[in-house]
Amino acid sequence: MSKRTILQKLEILADAAKYDASCASSGSARRNALGTPGIGSTEGMGICHSYAPDGRCISLLKILLTNFCIFDCRYCINRSSSNVQRERFSVSEIVSLTLDFYKRNYIEGLFLSSGIIRSPNYTMEQLLEVARSLREDHGFRGYIHLKTIAEADPELIRLAGQHADRLSVNVELPSEQGLTHYAPEKNGQTIRKAMADIRHEIDNVTDARSSRILKRAKPPAFAPGGQSTQMIVGADTSSDADILHSSARLYAGYGLKRVYYSAYSPVPEASADLPPIRPPLIREHRLYQADWMFRFYGFSTDEITSVAENGMLDLDVDPKLSWALRNRGLFPMDINRASYRELLRIPGLGPTAAKRIIAARRHTRLTLDDLARIVRSLKKIRPFVTASGWSPGHLTDAIDLKQRFLAPPQQMDLFA
Ligand code: SF4
Repeated sequence: MSKRTILQKLEILADAAKYDASCASSGSARRNALGTPGIGSTEGMGICHSYAPDGRCISLLKILLTNFCIFDCRYCINRSSSNVQRERFSVSEIVSLTLDFYKRNYIEGLFLSSGIIRSPNYTMEQLLEVARSLREDHGFRGYIHLKTIAEADPELIRLAGQHADRLSVNVELPSEQGLTHYAPEKNGQTIRKAMADIRHEIDNVTDARSSRILKRAKPPAFAPGGQSTQMIVGADTSSDADILHSSARLYAGYGLKRVYYSAYSPVPEASADLPPIRPPLIREHRLYQADWMFRFYGFSTDEITSVAENGMLDLDVDPKLSWALRNRGLFPMDINRASYRELLRIPGLGPTAAKRIIAARRHTRLTLDDLARIVRSLKKIRPFVTASGWSPGHLTDAIDLKQRFLAPPQQMDLFA
């Protein structure tokens, strides 16, 4: 078989990386101006958008070092028994690709993951060498996100953190039973131990760097963008409640910056106990909304999941509205008196709007019109608040209140 070109390798290894959700999709439609009067193209190959620790949206080259793998995780397209085209980049090829894209201003960084080749240590050494070479041989100052191999020597992971902005270890499935069943070569304890090691190193380095005593001998930075993980949704039977409780434990236990939820994509020749179709994407979206609620809105996971039917979030309305609809006894809330924490419980109000309400009401009693100038839409808010000159009356308790928030049903196209 003739050797593949870099472009052909890129096509295979960027495509194989798209299943990792820890950095948002590379899913732009392919457009190419070739043969047209226009300019530019989106090849859809390997460039994705992610968010830097300071909230900036950045473009990353998102690729695998290799899609060969000695493990056989049943939900994974790259598992050893999968019949896919295999390829592998050398360390120097990834370094050159990253630098070339970077110099052309296509990307601001690299997201690098890998199947496991030879051994976890060998693979981790290769990933580490890419990051080291970029930083030390080429003075690369762009963003680097490295997937770490949980089974690798902790010292290799520690060294990786000295070069990478962010590290991630994928927990893959929400439950230990799911992991044992679908990824028997992986071990939940090993994964959690790798996360704990990263957390300790981040904490140690943060403490040492802020120490007044260690004036000169401050240690090098370690994964300043923190660590994240990915959980696959819908491959096993875990409910949304199971997933959210598991996420809450990960955030609390390992100081994660993000848990990414990735709807399971059916893989070719999958075993019969995996679902034949992808779960609805809206399920992934509802999980992100619920995740947001406990990270930024002060809800506990028990509160969020208390309104989940059989542990599953309502797909029709967002989880905060769903919670409010089931807890109408707490509403309407007076926007002129409610605390910041209470304001965050009102559907349609986020932290920015809540802060603006509190600032504005120092000068005047707010009316619904005042509120309309603070928020984007009053639709979700109106039944749940009172304001100067406004009371929702019976609207809060209306039997059909949920229906009023639903999109109107659409006639299916007979010929679609
Ligand atoms: S170790 Fe990673 S790449 Fe290999 S089969 Fe499992 S999930 Fe896929």
